[in-house]
Amino acid sequence: MSQPPDIGRFAPSPTGPLHAGSLVAALASWLDARAHGGQWLLRIEDVDTPRCVPGAADTILQQLATCGMVPDAPPVYQSQRDALYQQALDQLTRAGLAYPCACTRQDIAAALAVNGHARERHGELIYPGTCRSGLHGKPARAWRLLTTQADQSADITWTDRRLGLKTQNVSEQVSDFVLRRADGLWAYQLAVVVDDAAQGITNVVRGEDLADNTARQILLQRALGLPTPRYLHTPLVLGSNGEKLSKQNGAQALLLSDPLAVLATMNTAAACLRLPAASGTLAEVLAQWVQRWTAQWALKSSGERFHHSPA
Ligand code: GLU
Repeated sequence: MSQPPDIGRFAPSPTGPLHAGSLVAALASWLDARAHGGQWLLRIEDVDTPRCVPGAADTILQQLATCGMVPDAPPVYQSQRDALYQQALDQLTRAGLAYPCACTRQDIAAALAVNGHARERHGELIYPGTCRSGLHGKPARAWRLLTTQADQSADITWTDRRLGLKTQNVSEQVSDFVLRRADGLWAYQLAVVVDDAAQGITNVVRGEDLADNTARQILLQRALGLPTPRYLHTPLVLGSNGEKLSKQNGAQALLLSDPLAVLATMNTAAACLRLPAASGTLAEVLAQWVQRWTAQWALKSSGERFHHSPA
């Protein structure tokens, strides 16, 4: 039987135009799909509506197209996929794996203070599990995933194609995470897992800042009976303060005003992936860089582990 095709994706949140950092993830996911003879899909992650900027999704599509990256199917918009997310939440609830939660941040802080160990992770309090046993007469706010599932371990181990073996005990290190937020919006974790499966994604290639979400996503895939894709987390472009590049720490708009500018911008992204700079006359380069980088990428990903070094 022939192997199903590899399907990769780029899943930007339309909170602004692409910058040098997001372009690296876009280029990496696109080259990965090309190198495997697969398809490349685009998903606009616009569930967190208060953070979305009007017009940003169109700008992103245009920027990608200017760089020669055109998805193999029309883009999918998470804001139009409520019914799918609801179905998944219903499935989890029926299976006893999701539950409503009445706690405010203050409730969580108070419960943790009583237990004497107010643990935090990335600035978030680790949920103490108060509503696992019911709402205690309070109104439901958010919905959470039960991470202490009797039939499966919350110890998630996975192999990142670049970062190698990773392990996280979701129950202990993260606890029951939110699937639907108190403001009624779908949480990133639920939407991404449902959509990766619905779009048949086999290869997730995205920035390293998202690596920490992977164990949660795998646990959720298992709870929903969905397959787990392969993961590759790409190096981050850092801003002036040494943190992931963002508008706040100096990300500039991408320079894509003419073919030479496009090439320079693409070469900067390629350098971050340790791909050789495309050079030659502009006409040669435009004709050749896709082929060259795709071939280099195929070479880098041919072994057990992705070779993040100059090919
Ligand atoms: N929408 C997320 C972001 O822009 C990416 C999600 C993902 O690739 O899993 O940071």
